[in-house]
Amino acid sequence: MMRVGFGFDVHQLVPGRELWLGGVQIPHSVGALGHSDADVLLHALCDALLGALALGDIGQHFPNTDQKWKGADSTVLLAAVVDLVHAATWKVGNVDCTLVMERPKILPYVLEMRAVIAKLLEVPLDAVSIKATTNETMGFIGRQEGVAAHAVATVVK
Ligand code: MG
Repeated sequence: MMRVGFGFDVHQLVPGRELWLGGVQIPHSVGALGHSDADVLLHALCDALLGALALGDIGQHFPNTDQKWKGADSTVLLAAVVDLVHAATWKVGNVDCTLVMERPKILPYVLEMRAVIAKLLEVPLDAVSIKATTNETMGFIGRQEGVAAHAVATVVK
């Protein structure tokens, strides 16, 4: 038995914030704005996993009105979502993510992100795919005002 879920997230990029992507801090002139650490990739992954089991979305589980999640490390949120998957008697199968941002180039960080995520999901490294593309300089991503992430996840019995 297998199910699939999809997740999407966007965060604004602003000066004076850290940039966390896939649980890895990326040195950059701007960072992602958000209630938590604003890790857009992990948020999209949370929604993909929640979606696979029709368990709602990240905003329902970790409301940005709750001080508990202010500045939260998104690896903690993803671990909590994985706990929900396991509690529902499923296991994570594989995940595939695409980051959409102009810069910096994230290829040097991808292996570390995959390792962080694989550990959190309790899956092998080859079950975690992270891809990246630019928005070809168009729109808010092209103007480097924001970053987006798409994720697909399977869960298996
Ligand atoms: Mg988010």
